[in-house]
Amino acid sequence: MHKTLLLSINALCASIVWAQAPAAAPAPSPSSTQDKPSVHWEELTAAEFRDAITRAQGTCLLPFGILEKHGLHLPLGNDLLNVRYAALNAAQQEYAIVFPEYYFGQIFEAKHQPGTVAYSRRLQLDLLQETTDEMARNGCKKIIIVNGHGGNNSLLPFFAQTQLDTPHDYVVYVLGITRSGQGEPKHKSNPATDMHAGESETSMSMIARPDLVHLDRAPQESGADQARLKLPEGLYTGIWWYARFPNHYAGEGAAASRELGEFEAKTWINGVAQAIRAVKADQESLRLQNEFYERSKHPLETPQ
Ligand SMILES: [Zn+2]
Repeated sequence: MHKTLLLSINALCASIVWAQAPAAAPAPSPSSTQDKPSVHWEELTAAEFRDAITRAQGTCLLPFGILEKHGLHLPLGNDLLNVRYAALNAAQQEYAIVFPEYYFGQIFEAKHQPGTVAYSRRLQLDLLQETTDEMARNGCKKIIIVNGHGGNNSLLPFFAQTQLDTPHDYVVYVLGITRSGQGEPKHKSNPATDMHAGESETSMSMIARPDLVHLDRAPQESGADQARLKLPEGLYTGIWWYARFPNHYAGEGAAASRELGEFEAKTWINGVAQAIRAVKADQESLRLQNEFYERSKHPLETPQ
């Protein structure tokens, strides 16, 4: 078992170092060309980086994944691989600088599964704050955190809210997972439980990294909702996910198709590109933040 785990981690590392998806539509373009710098932060020289910040109008992406089990058929780094595929392609459409691999999010609910890396609550928030602070110090005054992991859905808006605590000279935006939309091909499995490594996510992986999808293994484990906790709607507790999906698998990965994956990839890429354009055009958020920070220093003087 240890050996299997080590092999998976090695495979994951190799794939992350490789970083780009293999031939799949729409293919990420290679590194920089003469007239257009690379979208990869780590591929730019220092001088190129300065020009890239100007070209990006200070807009940078922080694609956010995780290391966790994804059924029996998808790699541990699935969320990061998928979200980077969407972010890198979008940044090539609408130029933005993409921060390197980042997977330091919320995943306590999968600590009982092999290969999960779950940093403490404090470290998650500190590391994210220091990362966005460092990005901003280098000219990224508009940072879009592009989320690729459902377990971050509460963490990221909370992080964005905490930016109002003390003054920052930059704006944090959070973009959710936007891979479904109008005109989507019909799903074969129940959308209500298609939540983790199921039909939808597996289809996307078939486009981003088809070489890492083992569709034949998907039916060897149940992704059914075990509904072991009976609580009224609106009453939340952290063990809810484990109560429903103890295998850390929700849905039917075997129902995945390239057709659905192509739709999702296109929708996600367009969604990120649209967000980059909206953020570049947004002149209000920073102005309002500054007004807010100033007023919060002396609330008694705030006009009523
Ligand atoms: Zn996932």
